[in-house]
Amino acid sequence: MTAVRLPSVDRLLRHPAATSLLDRYGREALLKTFRELLDELREPFRQGQISEADVDEAVLTGRAGERLAARNQRQVRRVFNLTGTVLHTNLGRALLPEEAIDAMTLAARYPLNLEFDLNTGKRGDRDDLIAGLIRELTGAEAVTVVNNNAAAVLLALNSLGARKEGIISRGELIEIGGAFRIPDIMARANVRLIEVGTTNRTHAKDYESAITERTGLLMRVHTSNYTVQGFTSSVATPELSSIARAHEVPLLEDLGSGSLVDLTRWGLPKEPTVQEALRDGADIVTFSGDKLLGGPQCGIIVGHKDLIARIKKNPLKRALRVDKITLAALEAVLALYRDPDRLGEKLTSLRLLSRGQGDIDSQVQRVMRPLSQALGERWQVTSELTLGMIGSGTQPVARLPSAALCMRPNSSKRLRGRALRLLEEALRQLPIPVIGRIDDDALWLDLRQLDDEAGFLGQLGALSVGEWDA
Ligand SMILES: *Cc1c(COP(=O)(O)O)cnc(C)c1O
Repeated sequence: MTAVRLPSVDRLLRHPAATSLLDRYGREALLKTFRELLDELREPFRQGQISEADVDEAVLTGRAGERLAARNQRQVRRVFNLTGTVLHTNLGRALLPEEAIDAMTLAARYPLNLEFDLNTGKRGDRDDLIAGLIRELTGAEAVTVVNNNAAAVLLALNSLGARKEGIISRGELIEIGGAFRIPDIMARANVRLIEVGTTNRTHAKDYESAITERTGLLMRVHTSNYTVQGFTSSVATPELSSIARAHEVPLLEDLGSGSLVDLTRWGLPKEPTVQEALRDGADIVTFSGDKLLGGPQCGIIVGHKDLIARIKKNPLKRALRVDKITLAALEAVLALYRDPDRLGEKLTSLRLLSRGQGDIDSQVQRVMRPLSQALGERWQVTSELTLGMIGSGTQPVARLPSAALCMRPNSSKRLRGRALRLLEEALRQLPIPVIGRIDDDALWLDLRQLDDEAGFLGQLGALSVGEWDA
C-alpha cells in the first residue's frame, strides 16, 4: 500500500482547474486558499485519517473554488421582494426608474458640474441642480436637499429653533422606527420641546397659550404611521399657520412621505401633498425622497427663501449633504413629474403601487404550476387574493388589493411551523433570494412586485427544501 501524501501548493497551482481560478481571483487569493486547505489537512494527515480521495488534486482545487466563490459573494445582493409591502424599508424602499438609473451611471462615470456653474465658470451650489425643478413642481420659494428626511427634520429644527422652544401637539410626538423619535430629535437639535394638547385632542388655544418670547418655532408632524380614531381634534395647517404668523415664528411641517401628486388618481389613498402643505401656510416642509416620491434616499426641505438660507448656512448641512449620484437620480425622477399622464407607467414605484389585482392574479396563475412542480407533493400551492401595504409607515391602515401564491406543507400540525421555516430558508438561499411572508400557517408570495418573472422561474430548479420530519 502506498502512503497517502499531501500535494504541494505548486502542484495544485499547476492543476488545469486552477487556471480559471487564478484568472478570476488572482494569484494571492488562490495561494492563500490552497495553503489554508493544506493546513487543515495536516493534523488529520499525521493521525492517518486521510484517504486518497481527500488529497486528490482535482478535489482540492474544487474545494478552493467553492471557498473563493463563497468569500467573494457580494454582500449587497438583489432579492425578490414578494412580501406584499412595496416601499419596504429593510429591502431598500423605492425602485428607481430607468431614467434615474441612466443618470446615476453617467454621474458615476464622468466628471460633472456638481458645484460648478457652467454659465459663469465659477463655483456653484449643488442644490441648484434640482432647485428649479422642485420649485416648479411644488411652488416653493427655495429648496435644499440632505441625506434623508430624518436629517431634514434635524437640520431644520436645529437651524430655526436651537436654544429656543419648539411647540408641538402631544398627538404628534411620534416614533418612526429605528430610534427616530420626535422628542429625541428635538433634544439633539437643541430645541426645547414644549408639548401641548393631549394625545387625541389639541386646540388652537393650546398653541396660543404656549407661545412666549422663547418660542422658536411651531412644529407639525404628519402622523404617517398610525391613526387616532374617535374623539379627536387637531388644528389644521391654515389655522396653525395664522397663529405662527401672528407671533412671527415659523411653522415647520414634517410630511414624512409626502407626495407631489394626488395619488387618488391611481386608486391609492389620499396622502397630503407638498403643494397643499405650502399653500396651507407651512413655512418649511420636509419629506422623503424614497417613500411615495419614488426616488433615491434623501430628505427634501422646501419653503421660504430666508428660512432656507438659514438652513443652508448651518454647518450641519455640510455633514448631511447628498452626493452626486443621489442628485442625478433625484433630478431624473422629478423630471418625470412634469408629465403626470405618464407618471403611472414611468415611475417604477407608482406603477407597482397601482398595479391592478386582476393583472397580479393572472401572473399568479402562470407561476403557480411551475412553483408547485418545483416543490413536489409535500406542498400544496394555491392562488389567493390578498392585501398588501404601501410600506415605510405610509398609510398604515390602507391595504392594496393583490394576489399571492400560498404554500402549505402536507404535514402534521405539529411540524407545520418547522416546514414553513425550512421553506422560507430555502427561498432565501436561491441565487436571487426570494422574500415572502408567513401568515396563517402558510408561506405567501405576493406577486405585485414580480417584474422579472423569467428570472424567478429560471431559478426554481435550484429550490431545495430540507426534510422537516428527519
Ligand atoms: C419616514 C419619516 C421620517 C424619516 O424619513 P427618512 O427618509 O426615512 O429618514 C420622518 N418623519 C416622518 C413623519 C416619516 O414618516
